[in-house]
Parts: sequence; structure tokens; C-alpha cells
Amino acid sequence: MSLLTVRDLTVEFPGPRGTVRAVDGLSFALERGRTLGIVGESGSGKSATSLAIMGLHAAARVGGSIELDGTEIVGAGREAVRALRGRRMAMIFQDPMSSLHPNHRVGEQIAETRRLHFGASRRRAREDAVRALADVGVPAPRERARDFPHQFSGGMRQRVMIAMALACEPDLLIADEPTTALDVTVQAQILELIAGVQRDRGLAVVLITHDLGVVARVADDVLVMYAGRSVEKAAVAELFTGPRHPYTRGLLGSLPRLDGPPGAPAPIPGNPPDLLSPPGGCPFHPRCPERIDGCATVRPELTGGAHPAACHLLSAPEEAAP
Ligand code: SF4
Ligand code: MG
Repeated sequence: MSLLTVRDLTVEFPGPRGTVRAVDGLSFALERGRTLGIVGESGSGKSATSLAIMGLHAAARVGGSIELDGTEIVGAGREAVRALRGRRMAMIFQDPMSSLHPNHRVGEQIAETRRLHFGASRRRAREDAVRALADVGVPAPRERARDFPHQFSGGMRQRVMIAMALACEPDLLIADEPTTALDVTVQAQILELIAGVQRDRGLAVVLITHDLGVVARVADDVLVMYAGRSVEKAAVAELFTGPRHPYTRGLLGSLPRLDGPPGAPAPIPGNPPDLLSPPGGCPFHPRCPERIDGCATVRPELTGGAHPAACHLLSAPEEAAP
């Protein structure tokens, strides 16, 4: 059984101008010891997906099913989800201050988690906190445990947040744009840290990012989202060598490449759709350079075995032929 199984997930936000369907029929499974990258532009539904898994969507209507190790999260009571969030799953964000308390020493914050979830004594919890900081590469952890979050650099603060997340010994770690705010060198170090803890602890990791370069570094599998839907799923190497969906090809074309021809990479023209009035047919059709008859009216389904994609070019090759 997979650690995490998501089936036909929908996340809707009712609002004064109508209902936004941020996630629309998403399904995937994740095994222990694997990292799944979820990639898409902002507004593609990737953050809404991660918040639904964490049970953190106060204002949303969530439908479908999310099972963590056999326990259903959709529709579960607040207390039940909070218990899972404490012990089974943890999340890290782009902004570490969203999970760190500014007025508490970082060692105390980690120790508090150990006391709360594991009933550790004060003394034991303090030692756990020092070790947790050492484990994520914070130098002089015994001294730094007494510092406040603002006394750390951006990259070190990110390490502290990861130590906090790991302090509850989760099976599942969700990382939402964990390196987006960091400069390139620090970004590489944090990705290496996440990959390392994933390996050492056998964690399942969901890595949410707009950056396929980040996925290439740490993920085993990739799910590409567009307008709340999964448009392509594949092992990382397959996605990079043989992308099937025009949107994925566009994302790959917009990546800077060291070995590529000189010149700036080309971003995908146009903008993601307004989800209050999404386009009919294939949601990518207004931007798609490869669109064919029917793309504007018929919605493509995700098909294609181990490397599925949702595009009419794949399901109707005779129409796609010149
Ligand atoms: Fe492009 Fe049509 Fe495929 Fe959509 S279904 S990605 S519009 S070719
Ligand atoms: Mg986001």
C-alpha cells in the first residue's frame, strides 16, 4: 500500500464572484522513500493540493479522497487531522517565519515539539533540539539553540524550519517552494539537505515547485499541473528526455541550460487561465502552440500507462497527423 494515495481530489473556494476550482480531479500515489515533484506555474493548484493533504484548508470545499497510510483525511475531524499533522506529516514553506515563532528561541520551539508529541522531559527535549539542529547542519548547535529566528541567515533559518518539521518524526514531508526565496548556492545546499534527510529517514517527500530545475535535482517522479489538473506524470528522467504534453515542453523550453544554445530561454507566452471562468476543452488551448481541431471544445483525459499525459495529440494520433 502506498503511504499517500490521492484520488479524484477537488479543492474549491467559494467566493463572491463565483467558485474557483483550484484542484480538479487530481490523483496520484506516493511510496515511502520516494520524492514526488509537483510542478506548475502559480495558480496551477499545487499549493492548494499540499494544503488539502495537510488538512489546512479552512475556507475550501475539499472532495475526493486523501489517504495517509490508510487513514482518510478528507472529511476527517479537525482533531484527527491535527493528530496526523503532529506525528505523521509535516510541511515546510518558502517563508520559514510561517512555521517559526519570532519571539521564542529556536531550541525551545523544537524542544516544545518533542515534549508535545513524544512526552520528552524538559532536559531530554532540550538535548533532542540540539541534536536536531546539528542534524540539519547548523554549526555550534548548542549555542545557536538559544538564538531567536531573526538571528539566523535565510538559509540557516530554512535549516531550522526543517529541523522543526523533522522533530515530529513524520513519514511524509511536504515542501512548498522551499528554496524559492534563496540565492542559488544556498538553494543547492537546502535541496541537498532535503535529499539527504529523505534518504536517511526513508521519508516520502512531496516537493512543490514552479521550477523544473529543482525537480531534476531531487525528485524521483514528477506530476505537472495546469489549471488544477494533472497534465503529465512520469519518472524524472522520462519527463526530461521525452515530455509528452505541450505545456511540459514549454516549461522545459523555459529552463536555462548550461549545455544549450546561447540566448535567453523562452518563457511560455500568455498567462495561466482565470479559474473563475476556465477555458473550455483543454485548459491549455489558448496558449498551446500545437493545438488542433477539437482542443477548444473537448477536454483531454489523462491517458498513457506509466507515463500518462492529457493531450489530444496522444489520444488521437490520426487527427494529429498532417
Ligand atoms: Fe495543446 Fe490540444 Fe494537447 Fe491541449 S489537447 S495541450 S491544446 S494539443
Ligand atoms: Mg504556491
